[in-house]
Amino acid sequence: MLTDVKILDVQKIRKDFPILHTLVHGKPLVYFDNAATTQKPLCVIQKEEEYYKTLNSNIHRGVHSLSQKATTAYEQAREKVLRFFNASRLSEIIITKGTTDSINLVASSFGKKFIKEGDEIIISHLEHHSNIVPWQLLCEEKGAALKVIPINDKGEIIFEAFEKLISEKTKFISVVYVSNSLGTVNPVKEIIQLAHSRNIPVLIDAAQAIQHFKIDVQELDCDFLAFSGHKLYAPTGVGILYGKEKYLEEMPPYQGGGDMISSVTFEKTTYNSLPYKFEAGTPNIAGVIGMGTAIDYLNEIGMDLISSYEKDLFEYANAKLSSVEKLTPIGTAENKLSVFSFALEGIHPHDIGTILDFDGIAIRTGHHCTQPVMQRFGIPATARISLSFYNTKEEIDFTADALKKVFEVFG
Ligand code: PLP
Repeated sequence: MLTDVKILDVQKIRKDFPILHTLVHGKPLVYFDNAATTQKPLCVIQKEEEYYKTLNSNIHRGVHSLSQKATTAYEQAREKVLRFFNASRLSEIIITKGTTDSINLVASSFGKKFIKEGDEIIISHLEHHSNIVPWQLLCEEKGAALKVIPINDKGEIIFEAFEKLISEKTKFISVVYVSNSLGTVNPVKEIIQLAHSRNIPVLIDAAQAIQHFKIDVQELDCDFLAFSGHKLYAPTGVGILYGKEKYLEEMPPYQGGGDMISSVTFEKTTYNSLPYKFEAGTPNIAGVIGMGTAIDYLNEIGMDLISSYEKDLFEYANAKLSSVEKLTPIGTAENKLSVFSFALEGIHPHDIGTILDFDGIAIRTGHHCTQPVMQRFGIPATARISLSFYNTKEEIDFTADALKKVFEVFG
């Protein structure tokens, strides 16, 4: 009996992304910088435009029709996020500016309430700067200490070292799900289980995970989870913080201003209920509505189909690019996805990026906001190819050939 196997039609999907049909230096764009930001499907672009043409008004405060319609559309986007990662309460979905904003919110607010002198916070060596610096700032302010889970030569965290780092003093753990510079997938479920056996809350930085596979926050049982809309095919300047109500209720507001209050007098202010307590000021309304449309778009394709297509594409890229002469992959974790970081013998990554750009190939070069990862590998930078479901094997073949040309120029 034939089973109904759905196959992702990449050529059809590419038609949804106008920018993929532009030329760079006269060549068709090959966009391999998806870990930095993803391109936007036409439906998201049109949704933002439609909002400004037909709905533009401020939310939550107006009794007039436009304001009410805009509020409904905005709150519908929150519901879409809830269903997308299977949260159970809208009060646990806080709309932010992005991952960085979400992590700063937790470090600042949770930190103010729960962290004191002598406490310890654990992160991993794989973190993006936005999951390092907010905790450093908090530790400096409170006299707490930051502990770092080491990584091995493949770029995987050393779990036994993590177990040893946990102590009575550990009050918070914040780790990345998927590394943006190496592609390593962290065993976050095991990290959360171990942390919870000691009553320690865990934040998951899902900036490089949410766009690649289905996440179920209830199943994962994370206490906080952060992501950015712009890496999920949505506009820039919007993001999400998921947080368990039991913590959010106890945490003080992060910022003061409109919308986050219940009543204000000069003597005393009382705060709005969740999630609004953490949403001060006018947000990026069009961007949030656009994020809802991006989620609809991904649901229509199906996250499972996206995952399986990207897995196959990554395996192809890994094999093809690793066979390029004098190329060394950086980060060879067993569980890895979407990101291929590498060095070419004797050639600076910036030169690789510049030469590839002449062929219309957009890759990222540098430290990828993970300087400690670069220090661990003893290099200043890598060249990074990061994939999306709109990329093709032909683009990988073209890039492998273009890399050989880099040697002709610099070799
Ligand atoms: N965490 C990870 C793993 C990332 O890859 C990034 C961005 O590249 C961030 C956090 C910060 O995201 P944003 O700049 O959208 O706030």
